[in-house]
Amino acid sequence: MQTQADLSSRLAAMERELEELKAEIVRNDAKMHRMQQRELRLLHSEDLQTLIHELTAGLRSSYHLQQVTVVLCDPDHDIRHLLLAAGTPAESFEGLLMVESLAGLAPQYTAMRRTWLGAFAACDHQLIFPQSDGLESVAMIPLTRHKRLIGSINLGSADPKRYAGEYAVDFLAHLGIIASACVDNTVNRARLLRSGFTDVLTGWHNRRYLQVRLNEELARARRDQQHVVCLMLDVDHFKSVNDAHGHVAGDAVLQEMANRIDAQVRESDVTARYGGEEFVVLLPNTDTAAAATLAERIRAAVCASPFELPNGEVRVITTSIGIAGVTPGPDEDDLKTLAESLIARADVALYRAKADGRNQVSVDDSQ
Ligand code: GH3
Ligand code: MG
Ligand code: MG
Repeated sequence: MQTQADLSSRLAAMERELEELKAEIVRNDAKMHRMQQRELRLLHSEDLQTLIHELTAGLRSSYHLQQVTVVLCDPDHDIRHLLLAAGTPAESFEGLLMVESLAGLAPQYTAMRRTWLGAFAACDHQLIFPQSDGLESVAMIPLTRHKRLIGSINLGSADPKRYAGEYAVDFLAHLGIIASACVDNTVNRARLLRSGFTDVLTGWHNRRYLQVRLNEELARARRDQQHVVCLMLDVDHFKSVNDAHGHVAGDAVLQEMANRIDAQVRESDVTARYGGEEFVVLLPNTDTAAAATLAERIRAAVCASPFELPNGEVRVITTSIGIAGVTPGPDEDDLKTLAESLIARADVALYRAKADGRNQVSVDDSQ
């Protein structure tokens, strides 16, 4: 039979439990509130720079963490150039790591679908936390774009229990979804603001512009029965410039390439950065022999003197050039296809120049 004392002590225990539950609710409420505030700050980030700052320094201070880094995979150097054009190079953000591929960076990336929590291990996490002193536990929150993994937010704590076992992964997963959407938005916005028809790095026209302009030039050539020539230029072994001297040096090489080409062409020629390290020069009303002479001049100007790199080193750069030309027939009504085939033929010629040993000009002879 239960005594009065038993009942009182059970009651007291229940009251204590109730108080603990209430305290837990208050803590969760506060946590939820803090999380909402943080997410609002991400959502209110007007531009990529602000967002990156919120994702690194912002999260570090609001979570009271030792380290926060953000890894972004940027194989086309798109994001890096948008940051550069905004006057805030990627290197100026503490905690931002831009990579061309996630492979080899941390083993977690190979099958990362959800937030990963665990103990800090130098062999696994050194590259995503370049300053890893004092880290004990880690959370890696995946960032995705169009359903593909594009990087992660990495939270590093000095507390070994912080990201272990039962930690509420849901909170972090939610944060990852919001952050991914914000990255997508701000990148798109920056691109819209910046690009249009202009290549951010060189200030040249971009591929989109070339497509529009090529159609116009072909229409004019059809009307006036003139010959149009396309030069496709590609820097030789450019990857090894990046590999040996870094991307900043690679960018400088691309800018200098654009300058050296510019110095050889006429005002009326159309120049565009076609992609990565490929450039196109469109020569209206020019015959193939004259185009080949110009291409040879450009090739010689590129390798004539070494390129000076921002770190003071120098490097000899060579380029291969493919040439194709066309005179559209008066009845030609599919200029779009004609434009595509002109580019494709110049590309085939370029490929041959590469195969024949690079640093040379090759003329398409299929027509
Ligand atoms: P090849 O002589 O056959 O043309 O070899 P390659 O190394 O020049 O060609 P590949 O296509 O293997 O490498 C091109 C590299 O250019 C890979 C890519 O990371 C790099 N790249 C593309 N765009 C940019 C850019 O805007 N800046 C920098 N620094 N690198 C870029
Ligand atoms: Mg190329
Ligand atoms: Mg190349």
